[in-house]
Amino acid sequence: MKMPHPIEAGGFVTTVTVAGFTAESLTDHGVSVLVVLAVLGSMLSAGMTLTDLIVKAATTEVYRCTAEGCQVEIRATRDHTPERLAVLKDMATDHVQHGSGGV
Ligand SMILES: [Zn+2]
Repeated sequence: MKMPHPIEAGGFVTTVTVAGFTAESLTDHGVSVLVVLAVLGSMLSAGMTLTDLIVKAATTEVYRCTAEGCQVEIRATRDHTPERLAVLKDMATDHVQHGSGGV
């Protein structure tokens, strides 16, 4: 099993903690179990979705072509070898290599 990214672990702990305190507070105020479960589910879903986006932003390299009007970009996770990332960067930033595909 792949180890979770530290941001992922932190996001999970934060999400569960905040959702837990919220559920406890709602329960203390006599909110029904179904409503507490609905709020809990929504908070967990939103928290982990946000965590996933932050992890992707932190672990993804984006290479864009600088030719005017060219929309070509390559997104690669940083767990590739430096050599592979260099090849992907060359492909994205050298407009001649991808021609007019993005124009
Ligand atoms: Zn280009």
